[in-house]
Amino acid sequence: MTTSTLDTTTLYRIPWTLADNGISWLEPTALCNLQCDGCYRRQAEDPHKSWDEVMGELDTLQRLRRCDCISIAGGDPLLYPRIVDLVADIGRRGLKPIVNTNGVALSGGLLADLKRAGVFGFTFHVDSRQGRGGRWAGKNDSELNDLRLEYAEMVGRAGGIACSFNATVYAENLDHVPSMLAWAHRHIDLVQTMVFICFRHVVPSLPFDWYAGDRRVEWDDIWYSSEQDREIEIDARTLVAKAREQDPRFQPAAFLNGTHDTQACKWLLTERAGNRRAIFGYLGPRFVEAVMGTHHLRHGRYPSYIAPAVARHGRTAMLLAGAVDRDARQAWRTYLGAALRRPAHLLRRVHLQSVMFIQPVDFQSDGEQSMCDGCPDITVHEGKLVWSCRLEEIKQYGRFLRTVPREGPGRCRPASCRKAEG
Ligand code: SF4
Repeated sequence: MTTSTLDTTTLYRIPWTLADNGISWLEPTALCNLQCDGCYRRQAEDPHKSWDEVMGELDTLQRLRRCDCISIAGGDPLLYPRIVDLVADIGRRGLKPIVNTNGVALSGGLLADLKRAGVFGFTFHVDSRQGRGGRWAGKNDSELNDLRLEYAEMVGRAGGIACSFNATVYAENLDHVPSMLAWAHRHIDLVQTMVFICFRHVVPSLPFDWYAGDRRVEWDDIWYSSEQDREIEIDARTLVAKAREQDPRFQPAAFLNGTHDTQACKWLLTERAGNRRAIFGYLGPRFVEAVMGTHHLRHGRYPSYIAPAVARHGRTAMLLAGAVDRDARQAWRTYLGAALRRPAHLLRRVHLQSVMFIQPVDFQSDGEQSMCDGCPDITVHEGKLVWSCRLEEIKQYGRFLRTVPREGPGRCRPASCRKAEG
């Protein structure tokens, strides 16, 4: 698998922490209308949380953690009976409600209600391993760009709502990443963020034993496990190499490291500026630092998602950020050069678009599990802050599982462990 070298010392470390973050995660329901491969959440008998329980979780999040956005997830949050009330409540608390949905239950009427309630944005999970039916059955991720466009246009017509997409990346759809990025570029006026999440599962060849406290746990009892060995080595650097197939200039600007690995790019952020015809450049680490610092100074919190009304000021962003960011200056020069050759560029808005690569848990050779340092997707369980990607462990075993290297000859050495040892 091709990977890119990426020196994290040249990137800006996004300053998110457990106590002060751009995002927090809220799950009002475990009910879903699709069955995504790699989903972290088990469907429950009684999937909806009570209103009081959800309010209690929001209170806890606000007490323990400063944040900008609440990602309302699940399950699919559009199936939560009081989703419109929930969006309105989050807005009244001074937080930005982001609905993370597969989009299946989104009708024009519900979108209008959510807009009136103050929804800040949608993140649509669309990829080829969700078991979608109807005309999307069996479509690959490049063909699903048509579905993405339907959602992006729907949100665009509603106006003033941020539109993002995420996709889990497996060995099976890795080669479609360039076409998804090319599609996002063609619709840079509608799509503010593209997120790609590397697939992770517990697979038989992982050389670990699993423990809940001192009790041994069978690996195949763990909710997110696969009976066959599957590719779990795709990481953020693999995705950078894929992105460079679409645009060799693709250059990330900022990252979150791993809790056990400073070189891991657990969240890897790229910011690009362009119009439907051309990407003028990739903004650099100083740009992200200026945005994070300025926003925190003005509002007391770090930003995460940006509104379409802000994203369309790409020209101003390149110009102003050029004072501190070399890559923004280069983007501005490229823009001027393009405008000289084709003055029509001057008539088109320049938009900003974020591309985020997320690399969930990485197993270290000593059994430690490296998580996202400054995890944005922290949620609440029984009054405590926990990683949402591993919530099923707490539900199933009462605690997070420990991994202990398996002894004995012939144990498999996956590449992630070799890298950690390297
Ligand atoms: S640690 Fe898990 S929940 Fe937190 S950001 Fe990383 S993948 Fe998401």
